[in-house]
Amino acid sequence: MANYLKQGASVPDERGYYGDFGGRFVPETIIPALDELMAAYEEAVDDPAFVEELLHLQKTYTGRPTPVTFAKRLTEHLGGAKVYLKREDLAHTGAHKINNALGQALLAKRMGKQRVIAETGAGQHGVASATAAALLGLDCHVYMGEVDIARQQPNVFRMRLLGAEVIPVSSGSQTLKDAINEAMRDWVTNVRSTFYLLGSALGPHPYPKMVRDFQSVIGHEARQQIQEEAGQLPDVCIACVGGGSNAIGLFHAFRDDQDVDLIGVEAGGYGVDTDKHAARFGNLNISRPGILHGTRSYVMQTEDGQIMETHSISAGLDYPSIGPEHAYLRSLERAYYTSATDEETLEAFQMLSQLEGIIPALESSHAVAEVIKRAPTMPKDSVILVNLSGRGDKDLDTVIKALEG
Ligand SMILES: *Cc1c(COP(=O)(O)O)cnc(C)c1O
Repeated sequence: MANYLKQGASVPDERGYYGDFGGRFVPETIIPALDELMAAYEEAVDDPAFVEELLHLQKTYTGRPTPVTFAKRLTEHLGGAKVYLKREDLAHTGAHKINNALGQALLAKRMGKQRVIAETGAGQHGVASATAAALLGLDCHVYMGEVDIARQQPNVFRMRLLGAEVIPVSSGSQTLKDAINEAMRDWVTNVRSTFYLLGSALGPHPYPKMVRDFQSVIGHEARQQIQEEAGQLPDVCIACVGGGSNAIGLFHAFRDDQDVDLIGVEAGGYGVDTDKHAARFGNLNISRPGILHGTRSYVMQTEDGQIMETHSISAGLDYPSIGPEHAYLRSLERAYYTSATDEETLEAFQMLSQLEGIIPALESSHAVAEVIKRAPTMPKDSVILVNLSGRGDKDLDTVIKALEG
């Protein structure tokens, strides 16, 4: 496979901006570390040995390429566009997050950093980081809010089993955003020995670009696979958007295909008109440009700028901001953003299970919910490519509780 890390793109600019979004809003002490990281990354993607090692591990460890599957019964049921699934649920650890974790862990090793730190909410990025660290023999410390630790016990156990240390965070709301704050603090203190393995297309430059590039393997593969399977490029690409890494990973390869519509699906929770959702573009009364975790993007906030508590049935989409490149693509009208409610998501979760024998992650089910709305309105010879970012085994407890209400 060609070096997908160097697909070339007009953004970000040298300072890490995507139009008005992105940049670096961090304490002065972190700037040298970000510069060092960027230099190491640029050198690595130009080094055939690094790229070869990454590609080889993806093939022999992660199980790439993941297939593209024609969803025949779902297509017949919806009666419109042909629906194809990009199967990130089949990647090792059950989701796309390993693509980024493995890339960054390899970079950490190359930079001679023996210790990696990560933040995690539901535990999925923590598990992916712990997995990559185990594979490469790195020490791994994962920051996680106490509230999240209590509600995500199986993932806490997985991380410990993989040899990682889970560090409880008791500040603030004791959830993801507090875990990110603590991880940043750790990095400032231990920057010489430590690599910060950030989990989505977020944070200060160069993280959004680096994470995009590592995840762009998704679209790079899928663009070729869909042409083999469907005989054409898709009319529409659909992906769920938490921080935005699986979506940007799919979209990136299609950015110059102007006839391919790109649709991101946010967490609509109880509805975007309530205060219980995580649709950063869904209700611009409570979301506007602002700064969170080192980058400028849309942030859900109160009138006086306090970060809002968000809600989603899927922990992976439950974050008050969104990657800066999505804010940029939206401003250009190159990508469009919509949302699916918890209820629509549960319906999609069951429909894909029953019609295709594939139990999708609740995050991915948001994308499937948009397929259910959109496919029937499209002609039968049109093609939808949807990113199935992960598998749903981790969500069974949540779904059982929700269905039993
Ligand atoms: C974490 C996660 C997401 C959301 O993260 P992005 O960075 O927006 O991709 C989506 N799907 C699954 C399965 C996840 O684990």
